[in-house]
Amino acid sequence: MTASRALKTIDDLEEAGLIAGTRNAQLSDVAARYAIAVTPAMAALIDPGDPNDPIARQFIPDAAELVRLPQERADPIGDTAHSPVEGIVHRYPDRVLLKAVHVCPVYCRFCFRREMVGPQGLGTLASQAMDRAFAYIADHPEIWEVILTGGDPLVLSPRRLASVMERLAAIDHVKIVRFHTRVPVAEPERVDAAMIAALKASGKTTYLALHANHPRELTMDARAACGRLVDAGIVMVSQSVLLKGVNDDPDTLAALMRAFVENRIKPYYLHHPDLAPGTSHFRLTIEEGQALVASLRGRVSGLCQPAYVLDIPGGHGKTVISASTIADNGGGCYTVADFHGETHAYPPLVTD
Ligand SMILES: *Cc1c(COP(=O)(O)O)cnc(C)c1O
Ligand code: SF4
Repeated sequence: MTASRALKTIDDLEEAGLIAGTRNAQLSDVAARYAIAVTPAMAALIDPGDPNDPIARQFIPDAAELVRLPQERADPIGDTAHSPVEGIVHRYPDRVLLKAVHVCPVYCRFCFRREMVGPQGLGTLASQAMDRAFAYIADHPEIWEVILTGGDPLVLSPRRLASVMERLAAIDHVKIVRFHTRVPVAEPERVDAAMIAALKASGKTTYLALHANHPRELTMDARAACGRLVDAGIVMVSQSVLLKGVNDDPDTLAALMRAFVENRIKPYYLHHPDLAPGTSHFRLTIEEGQALVASLRGRVSGLCQPAYVLDIPGGHGKTVISASTIADNGGGCYTVADFHGETHAYPPLVTD
């Protein structure tokens, strides 16, 4: 079935046949805590007959979200620890996040900012807060890159995006503007000529990091939207979250990375899921993640290899967590593992 607007309540989802079995009170509790939205494009991808559908798992609320573990936290990656002014997160010297909106076209059940996004979230930056955020960027010449995230910055109208880009264009030291978004897959029709023009500014290079987690999300419409962006000179990279029951097998991960590369999107990050409240049903162990990431090596092109990263709780930033393939034996001698897992001496032994 094809919906014509986003589904935003349990009732909407039930009417669309997307709530499996009988509805229970727990789902209303989930809905009261965390925002719901499933766009027509994503709803159309769900197979209601499949209780393990990987698209449904990402967007349809689940009673498991009420299970909160002691190590989970409202601000899992420590945004607030590095926020000098509202809307800005300045953790690394040369780049800042600019969180202009806390609204998304779809709400992911595993979202790391789930306590901040949605209708009950932090909302959109008021114009005075926007002024202070731009003043902060202008006052810090070490800021080379501005990363628009949120929320999803592409929910803003082309007019508002163009105004953000114009203000960044006026700051000489900013060279790169990066957008983190799910819109090209969740609402591909939004990516029209006006939107694309608004993402570009003279003298700046625009990057767009597309968030997608399953190869089925790269529909024909999504591929066309990405094609329009890349044709316009916007560089695309990917960002995915490694999620139990969505993409935690080598075939799905390989197909996802290949789909990106086929669409001129360079795989960038594969995130280990953050410790967001009520998301433990999505988390695998780091060892499981390392094994999956290692399975991509050799099996698919080097172009298809993302970096497996963990955002360290408390605001310490991201770190690469793939298993090491090299052991230091001392004296300049190492043991290295190839993609079959076989080990070799480096430098080779003289007898070889
Ligand atoms: C993830 C993140 C970035 C971007 O990191 P890259 O490694 O450059 O992609 C920048 N600032 C903050 C606060 C982040 O969380
Ligand atoms: S699109 Fe990003 S910010 Fe929005 S709900 Fe999904 S993970 Fe969270």
